[in-house]
Amino acid sequence: MNNTDKATIKSVLLWKNQRRYIREAFEAGTLKAAIVPTGSTEQHNEHLAMEHDTASALHISKLAAEKLFPEVIVTTPLALGVAEHWMHHKGTLTLRPEVFGEVLYDVCDSMRRHGIKNVLIINGHAGNNRPARERIDDFRERLGINLIFHSYWDACSPGFIKEHLKSGNYPGHASEFETAFAMAAFPENIDWEGVDYDAANLPFASQADSDYDRTYHEEAKLAIAAKGQLMIDVAVGWVADKLRQMIAETEKQEGKQAK
Ligand SMILES: [Zn+2]
Repeated sequence: MNNTDKATIKSVLLWKNQRRYIREAFEAGTLKAAIVPTGSTEQHNEHLAMEHDTASALHISKLAAEKLFPEVIVTTPLALGVAEHWMHHKGTLTLRPEVFGEVLYDVCDSMRRHGIKNVLIINGHAGNNRPARERIDDFRERLGINLIFHSYWDACSPGFIKEHLKSGNYPGHASEFETAFAMAAFPENIDWEGVDYDAANLPFASQADSDYDRTYHEEAKLAIAAKGQLMIDVAVGWVADKLRQMIAETEKQEGKQAK
């Protein structure tokens, strides 16, 4: 038995490994899939940190990859997304949809060039949905790999949400769903201290925008950590299953080709 027979990654997070762990894992054939988390840096109402969509996508991706250790690696997340619709709130960063798509493509292509045949994009920001879905078939064809895009909340059925969330609203925006997630995963990202919603000088794009924002603000107060944990567990299990399916599909395909 040589050294590479048992070589594995040190962490499921790509950027936490020294290059030798990644190289030897590829040489040993233990790495079978990659997750690319996509998020955003944008306003999340008065109480949630602006990293929420990136942090949540990364949290789900990391736990799902750990379930399949050492077969799945998580790439550096895209912490910038398509958030033009929130630019009237100071601090939001946005990419043009085509730039977001190109960066996403290049990350997937980098993994393909290293020999990864299965890439699952796990998204945490609703604004990325359309730009990614519009191009995913083209990306798959050009890359010639098994490539799938999902938002992590695709794991939750409407019935499940209705049963467990008081507001019944998901993913919403910094409302009950996301606030419960943060309470369970990174409570330090929630800061209600000094929040005075009615006194705040809030910029809104329209009356509808203002109404939604206030609704989300109120719904956020319904959040409890236990529900957030429940949704995280469901999403992690669901993403892990998707990865198992993708790996099995590709292996079956390769088995057929070898015959
Ligand atoms: Zn969000």
